[in-house]
Amino acid sequence: MAHRYRCGECRFATRWTTESEVGDLAAAHYAETHPGLALGGVVEINQKNPNSLGCLPILGIALLLLVIVAACQR
Ligand SMILES: [Zn+2]
Repeated sequence: MAHRYRCGECRFATRWTTESEVGDLAAAHYAETHPGLALGGVVEINQKNPNSLGCLPILGIALLLLVIVAACQR
């Protein structure tokens, strides 16, 4: 599972990383870019492995459905 922090003040977003590291990155970004402001923004959570090809399973399912439809038409 991967976490990514999106800044509430600007369009900054961190890379996908661990939950503990994302907090450090958010704090570091605020200290550097928005000094004096309270920490805002959102943490996005990705259930999948961020390095995997995310749409591949969907393509596989679509292909399987096509095969089933083609088989039924015979
Ligand atoms: Zn920012």
